[in-house]
Amino acid sequence: MTSAIILKSASELALMEEANQIVAQTLCMLREHIAPGITTLHLDQLAEKFARKNNATPAFKGYRGFPGSLCVSVNEQVVHGIPSRKVMLKEGDILSIDFGVKYKGYYGDAAITVPVGTIASQAEDLLQVTRESLYEAIEQVKIGNRIADISQAVQDYVEQRGYSVVRQFVGHGIGQQLHEPPEIPNYRRSGRSPKLLAGMVLAIEPMVNAGAHDVKILGDGWTVVTIDRSLSAHFEHSVAVTENGPFILSHGL
Ligand code: MG
Repeated sequence: MTSAIILKSASELALMEEANQIVAQTLCMLREHIAPGITTLHLDQLAEKFARKNNATPAFKGYRGFPGSLCVSVNEQVVHGIPSRKVMLKEGDILSIDFGVKYKGYYGDAAITVPVGTIASQAEDLLQVTRESLYEAIEQVKIGNRIADISQAVQDYVEQRGYSVVRQFVGHGIGQQLHEPPEIPNYRRSGRSPKLLAGMVLAIEPMVNAGAHDVKILGDGWTVVTIDRSLSAHFEHSVAVTENGPFILSHGL
């Protein structure tokens, strides 16, 4: 059974664009600060301050007890890494930063993976393929297509390049709730998936591993890592379905 997907009006999409622009601007600001020697807690504090200055509330802080404002996932960490003063970035790391805010009753959510200094060419390639898989997915955001077309686009693009997509965590609808129906897997599931209608807003977020797709959650109850400890990357946009095709609300990343 699929629960109802909430369609948003034009005025709601305008508010959601504002929320997502605060997220996109936060991520762009953080990207400028990411360098060897910076702690992930420092990035978390910068993100929270920036959001609050823009009259937005960090969405992840306190969500099911998550302790940070920002999810910070280094190297083999996939998503949901907890900011810490003990985690200092080093040259050659890759860092996924995922941020969400609530603004005027609506949520924004986006993520990027950023190199720390100079990184290996294999890591560079993983970042590029993951980012491109997101845009391949966004091309499928049109009325009449199904969620499965988005899933398939990510999976095909990633697997053709020798990487794997995480199955245990998926994208989601977004609006007045951070997580709304439908689920948006990054791989093709059997059975029918919902048809895309104007006014749907989808947080599409490929999580791509250099090795196998298997992941587990660490003892902190949050941090997701690849079981084979291979590198993992994550990119996310919140995208509206419109009569004119995809509208990337978190544009500018
Ligand atoms: Mg999300």
